[in-house]
Amino acid sequence: MTDYRSGFIAVIGKPNVGKSTLINAILGQKIAAVSPRPQTTRRRQLGILTRDEAQLIFVDTPGIHQPRHKLGEYLNQEAGQALNAVDIILFLVDASAEPNEDDIRIASLLKNVSPRIPIVLTLNKMDLVDAGDLKLHLEAYQALVRKETKSVSISALHFGYVNELVAILIALLPHRPPEYDEEQITDLYEREIASDLIREAALLKLRDEVPHGIAVRVDEFKERGNGMTYMAATLFVERESQKGIVIGEGGKMLKQIGTAARKQIEEMGGHKVFLELRVKVEKDWRNNESVLKRLGYKIKKP
Ligand code: GDP
Ligand code: MG
Repeated sequence: MTDYRSGFIAVIGKPNVGKSTLINAILGQKIAAVSPRPQTTRRRQLGILTRDEAQLIFVDTPGIHQPRHKLGEYLNQEAGQALNAVDIILFLVDASAEPNEDDIRIASLLKNVSPRIPIVLTLNKMDLVDAGDLKLHLEAYQALVRKETKSVSISALHFGYVNELVAILIALLPHRPPEYDEEQITDLYEREIASDLIREAALLKLRDEVPHGIAVRVDEFKERGNGMTYMAATLFVERESQKGIVIGEGGKMLKQIGTAARKQIEEMGGHKVFLELRVKVEKDWRNNESVLKRLGYKIKKP
């Protein structure tokens, strides 16, 4: 039997609790999109930490919330499936507040998870709370999960106790050879990550003018000579009026979005990127299954 440990870790928690920030802190580079608004992360994403003794494969599940439209249903399916197919569940909660109804709903989903899958209750944002309240909040969260659940307090944003959390996770992983080569990791996910980074840049630049009705599809992703990558992507909006806003006067807004996204993608990949963006109206794309499919969202019929 191998000494090596490896496995899948589902990171679950309500929107804005710091899932992407935590994964970025653990991996030490920008992989998941981080945003001050909830729901930037829409797809399942893997972030993979490969060490000499272990490989930790993180599944950054979208926030679990009430389905309001087809996209919401998809998000819930993804989150639900992620839970029973992993080796560890990292339940991320907000240390600075008491549990709210989102936490309670997620905790109730955890009741259906096999007792063989360990849960690590992780209180994030401990920098925002004093010791007394931290203790009270910890007790309130512990009351929502199984008795034997391990807990740890961290500050993902400030790298506080992140190494300690990683050590706890490694100790809980099964003995198993690594799932992925180190090389494979970037190739597989760069394209997907790039589309999240473009969407994030658009949301940040547009503020509240085009709320979540925006999606991104990467159409081309080609490595050219001299270390340059050529990328073309389409931004989908729901209405003609939104198209105008995204493009802006004389194309100014789209240019700003492109510049911001390109910088992030270059930072992630460590090479120069030429990024071309287009905008397309796709009416009501969030409720349109064929559009969701084309954008890479897998819809599974119950
Ligand atoms: P997600 O929706 O769960 O992926 O949350 P994000 O990672 O996008 O984080 C949401 C917000 O919380 C961002 O503004 C982060 O900077 C912030 N945040 C994340 N972790 C911490 C933390 O440890 N302390 C503080 N003060 N803020 C945090
Ligand atoms: Mg996120």
